[in-house]
Amino acid sequence: MTPYQLGPLLYEGKAKRIFQTDQPDLVAVEFKDDATAFNALKKAELKGKGILNCSISALLFEHLQRAGVPTHYLGVQGHHWMLVRPVRVIPIEVVIRNVAAGSLCKQMPIAAGTPLDPPLLDLYYKDDAYGDPLLSEARLERLSLVNGEQRRELEALARRVNAVLLDLFSGLGLQLVDFKLELGFTADGALVVADEISPDTCRLWDLDVVDAQERILDKDRFRQDLGGVIEAYGEVLKRVQGVIHGPSLYG
Ligand code: UDP
Repeated sequence: MTPYQLGPLLYEGKAKRIFQTDQPDLVAVEFKDDATAFNALKKAELKGKGILNCSISALLFEHLQRAGVPTHYLGVQGHHWMLVRPVRVIPIEVVIRNVAAGSLCKQMPIAAGTPLDPPLLDLYYKDDAYGDPLLSEARLERLSLVNGEQRRELEALARRVNAVLLDLFSGLGLQLVDFKLELGFTADGALVVADEISPDTCRLWDLDVVDAQERILDKDRFRQDLGGVIEAYGEVLKRVQGVIHGPSLYG
């Protein structure tokens, strides 16, 4: 791999900054310590979160790639930088739910903790200005964000990610309750998993803990003011590192 020079800031999101590099096929992602919830109404700085999410995400991307799932991931550098391929991110958040939690239980008469088999797949329009609304079939068609074939490909890829991650996490004593994916197209038109996969974007429950609050090892600790956010993310990293070696350094 070739060394690179950091270029201008392309985009700053709630948890990451994306930088151009001097190479057209390489983008650098900096994971920040900023935590936000409820469409950024709740904000805090959590020291160490950036490093934890970068490492967890990198290990999960490496695991997915070894399982044949294409991602934008290329490697890490330092503790909170990830190198990725540039992708045109589709403005759709794909949420897969294996167990009912979060918004599903607020919007539907489904009790939290209800197993969902087959897993529920929900698509949301990714736009903070509109509050990331749930997409209906007709709205998705109206927005022309993807064609029918791309949508089928996107959903199949998300379900493959779920199968691989469910298997991985259950072996680590963790219940993958639900998670959000972002997907995008590379310059050569391939559909890949982009963004991050971390306790910021997944709900993970410790299978050995019965208490409904104590078992939470994800961003719900921040959303619900439960404390111990960094400790919980650290526990997830420790378990993932127990079975996936790395992450691989870029360059
Ligand atoms: N999620 C996310 N970003 C979002 C919305 C949801 O990463 O903008 C993740 C969230 O952490 C959870 C899953 O997607 O793991 C399902 O979230 P849900 O729809 O239940 O919304 P929430 O309860 O987070 O408002």
